[in-house]
Amino acid sequence: MRLSKMHLNTLREAPAEAEIPSHIWLLRSGMIRKLASGVYGFMPMGYRSVRKIEEIVRSEMDAKGAQEIHMSAIQPAELWMESGRWYVMGPEMWRVKDRRGREFCLGPTHEEIFTDIVRNEVSSYRQLPLNLYQIQTKYRDEARPRFGLMRSREFVMKDAYSFDRDEAGLDNSYNEMFEAYTNVFNRCGLTFRPVEADSGAMGGSGSHEFTALSEVGESEIAYCSSCDMAATTERANTIDAEAENEAEKALETVHTPGAKTIDEVSAYLGLPKEKTIKALLLAVYGEDGTAKEYVAAFVRGDRELNMTKLVNALGIPEHMADFADEDSMGAATGSVAGFTGPMGLRNCKLIVDSELPGLKNMCAGACKLDHHAINVNYGRDYKADIVTDIKKVREGDACHKCGAPLKLARGIEVGQVFKLGTKYSKSMGAYYKDENMNECLMIMGSYGIGVTRTLAAVVEQNHDERGIIWPVAVAPYHVIVTVVKQDDPEQSGLAEAIYKSLLANGVEALLDDRDERAGVKFMDADILGIPVRITVGKKAASGLVEYKLRRESGFTEKASEEAVAAATEFIKSGGAL
Ligand code: ATP
Ligand code: MG
Repeated sequence: MRLSKMHLNTLREAPAEAEIPSHIWLLRSGMIRKLASGVYGFMPMGYRSVRKIEEIVRSEMDAKGAQEIHMSAIQPAELWMESGRWYVMGPEMWRVKDRRGREFCLGPTHEEIFTDIVRNEVSSYRQLPLNLYQIQTKYRDEARPRFGLMRSREFVMKDAYSFDRDEAGLDNSYNEMFEAYTNVFNRCGLTFRPVEADSGAMGGSGSHEFTALSEVGESEIAYCSSCDMAATTERANTIDAEAENEAEKALETVHTPGAKTIDEVSAYLGLPKEKTIKALLLAVYGEDGTAKEYVAAFVRGDRELNMTKLVNALGIPEHMADFADEDSMGAATGSVAGFTGPMGLRNCKLIVDSELPGLKNMCAGACKLDHHAINVNYGRDYKADIVTDIKKVREGDACHKCGAPLKLARGIEVGQVFKLGTKYSKSMGAYYKDENMNECLMIMGSYGIGVTRTLAAVVEQNHDERGIIWPVAVAPYHVIVTVVKQDDPEQSGLAEAIYKSLLANGVEALLDDRDERAGVKFMDADILGIPVRITVGKKAASGLVEYKLRRESGFTEKASEEAVAAATEFIKSGGAL
């Protein structure tokens, strides 16, 4: 492609809203353009890279025997009502009505649709296992769309759904997809880690997220410094503090004026934070947005609440729970902002972290203004409706598998695989007949890759202060031939010859034949991040050019044929040289 003919508009500066490198560089390189908050379009270069990722995904899915189909983004509400998710999904689901008032949604995911297809078209064990996938546009009205393609409201996802006869079949399908994902993200040039994950609204028994490591990522993972344990922090567990065998002392109420936070009360009473109990007050909201139930959650004072574990313990979707206004719930429950403890609460569900019952003589709010209770003991002084692990792991906490210290890291969730089991086949009636003509439920899995988020993750991991540095596999073009003076016939002639040789070698080449200053051309080549640049300048008359890799700072002078050969070899090696 000749840049003089290409629709390309690089920006000297990024729009103010772009905060992270991938967003900045995808905008500045003219690869994407914003239409509305969380809604982006792809320009020629950007769309080429999207299609490269799609092709990588496609080839790895096909290699595992998955079959590509393409379903509509518009999904009838009835299917979601059958699965029960029409209400579970909350405001993230983009709901629309047709002119007759029939309800639809713009698909945020496609479990219901694929289950519907398969229940109608598959009836015998001979047709299983089956894995169907699509690469398709998804819609989620995210609460906080941000970071460009990273969290957008319209995005491209590869979603696959497997249907098996039994659990062993599902395990096999899941492992195959796990392998396919590993291959996909390796081929995209990402540094990533598969980690155990929570299954969230998807339901089901097991899940892994594929996390591209990045400081700006919105996912947090915990991994063990010694064993192979790695999980999202939503999911990760640690070992509970050891139960204490101190004698239980007499319960007392003490005056703690103005000491509302754990820091304040532990300083005021001279107690370590580990001897305090932190209260977190939540409301479970109904469909109409009013609080239906209050929940008081308690963790050791030095710990944080893990919201995912909490909503799992309550058996509700995450969007239905939120922190409550302590003052307004006080009348109903007896809570007192800053002084709430597990004793003296009413009309309120108590959830206590699993390590608290073993800890003796703790300090907690007394549900009385400016007062705390000390020597609080579980069983004697308070009891919970639910005792379970609801704490967040911290760096250095003991790994629940081996006891070694945990480490934390941030990352971008680029893919997730789920063992769904029978959640959808049961609610939607997806059966097959086995060898003995018995009706059996299909066992399902679902597998997603964020194609456009992957593009952003690749840029996040591959850029410098001048622009993108594409790995060869997802670069929009492989080589850019930059002509220093387009109106010098020697230069433009040699550049043209190089460009043609590259194309003849199967290299995806760009010819920067624009009537621009050399500085502008170099700057654009760097922003665009094309892996190889061949610069044709003053020495064109003697057939010499500059050969430069985007990822390296120096260049070498080569005869033009040599430069073509080197570029071709570099690209054929996938950039490994
Ligand atoms: P997140 O936790 O980041 O909101 P999710 O767990 O809800 O993501 P899944 O339902 O697992 O997402 O969707 C499969 C994949 O689709 C994700 O792994 C991610 O790569 C991609 N994805 C999800 N939401 C978005 C979004 N808003 N913008 C871009 N990609 C997304
Ligand atoms: Mg996910």
